[in-house]
Amino acid sequence: MILSSLNDVLTVKDSSLHGKGIFSTKNILKGQIITQIIGEMISAEECIKREEEGNVYIFWKEDDLYIDVSNHSTIRFINHSCDYNCDVDEDESGNLILLAIRDINEGEELTIDYGYEEIYENCTCPLCTSKKPVDAD
Ligand SMILES: [Zn+2]
Repeated sequence: MILSSLNDVLTVKDSSLHGKGIFSTKNILKGQIITQIIGEMISAEECIKREEEGNVYIFWKEDDLYIDVSNHSTIRFINHSCDYNCDVDEDESGNLILLAIRDINEGEELTIDYGYEEIYENCTCPLCTSKKPVDAD
């Protein structure tokens, strides 16, 4: 079951991870669908083109289908963390959804694993920051 309305549950504000982030305004239980990921459906070819133009708000859906959420007022602000609390999944109808993979407290930032190599190299999430050795130069 999807939580009532996205705007009732989520708020966008400054994040300690990066720029702005999405924060929960309610306690969310593990396994709960937080929202549908809605945007413009585009092909892989179009995805590559847009990414080259600097669009970083594209989710992979399936095969040759991607979803560009850059016009979405909320979901585009979701940040990466290696200690993520949400996952992108599909519901029974094949809609792309944001799923809580653990209990999330009111006020917590929602994060996902972006899942591409470059993100880990420069990741500043608490997990990576604590693992990285102190700068040697
Ligand atoms: Zn990290």
